[in-house]
Amino acid sequence: MSPYLNAAPATSDARLGTRFWIYPQPPFIPGYEQPDRVWLNISRDDISDGPSDGSMYVADPLFDKQPYGPSALPPFLGPCRAPARASIDRHFDHLDPQSRAYLGVHAYACVHFVLDVWHSYLGRPVEWFFRDVYPRLEIVPLVDWPNAQAGYGFLELGFSDVGGIRRPYALNFDSIAHEMGHLISLSEAGFPTGLSRGDDFFVFSEAFSDCVSLISFLHFDSAIDRLLRRTRGNLLLYNELNRFAETSPETQIRLATNFRRMSEVTREVHDRALPFIGAVFDSIVDAYHFRLVESGCAGQSLIDTDLRDLSLGDFDRFHTLTADAFADDPLAFKRALIAARDDIGRALARSLRMLDPDNLKLELAAAAVVTSARGHAADRLRENFIWREIINPT
Ligand SMILES: [Zn+2]
Repeated sequence: MSPYLNAAPATSDARLGTRFWIYPQPPFIPGYEQPDRVWLNISRDDISDGPSDGSMYVADPLFDKQPYGPSALPPFLGPCRAPARASIDRHFDHLDPQSRAYLGVHAYACVHFVLDVWHSYLGRPVEWFFRDVYPRLEIVPLVDWPNAQAGYGFLELGFSDVGGIRRPYALNFDSIAHEMGHLISLSEAGFPTGLSRGDDFFVFSEAFSDCVSLISFLHFDSAIDRLLRRTRGNLLLYNELNRFAETSPETQIRLATNFRRMSEVTREVHDRALPFIGAVFDSIVDAYHFRLVESGCAGQSLIDTDLRDLSLGDFDRFHTLTADAFADDPLAFKRALIAARDDIGRALARSLRMLDPDNLKLELAAAAVVTSARGHAADRLRENFIWREIINPT
């Protein structure tokens, strides 16, 4: 018997979208062994075997392929594995998600999932920055290379190697969403012209891509449910959240719950990106608190207090109150987190067109995010960017 029975009702309406399996986290992570069935916002009439469509296609080399670079760009012209084929009802959830053949299908599904989310935030589809040369993104699901990269016309995925165990990035939603973050920011903000690119171009690109990964991950119902159940709704408890983050398998959250300020980081790009990522995560938590108060699930003191200054006793009181409220109305907490995620996600997406890639400073990027946000979310983003020493308070 198949471990993943197809329990979705059959429908002949292709416009409803196309079904796939996605692992919200890699399947070796405890608690995420089973994939989620998702409907992607693409008509079955528009997908061909591969899968492929008008904006992307999977090319799965039959033999080892060297990673793309300045002297080697798509398309891949060597022999490829046979393209994955849709089922008789033209979905892609009939394939075993643990099979080799599913790597390309999974990578394709993750790319579409992330694009669907950011299309919604932007209010229009993402148009590839390389579209004049390559109308479609080439997805290479497995390269013999311990890395993943997105570039001019391509996304290619190698494998992680921890203790000699190789795991393909094609099954790693975080990694694919992060690489998509690079493609989205370049497509929206534009490509810098050579050496005149802004000082913080790469730092912002890394920070934004991690935010894309985190926010896209929070679009899986199963991910939100797990997060809220594990914390009993207490994203407000920073100590608790940090303890949670230390041992949690959700790598984006572990990365995002940091307390680094700009005066505490090195010049290294990923290190320098941490305060920006932390400010965005803090703002999601703040927006979540605001929504909880608005819906009557928490008292006003939750948003009037600087949570970084709370005593241990205050934390414990908040913990008990919130856990009780969560037990009574978990759906209200879920609604609050979804609204918070979208408040901040939309602001991030809409800030991109305000950026000049040739003069990109973190402060200007942060200011654009604040300008693109509304109401309470804008205030909190500003405060958090100030606390992280990204925006100058004067
Ligand atoms: Zn990156």
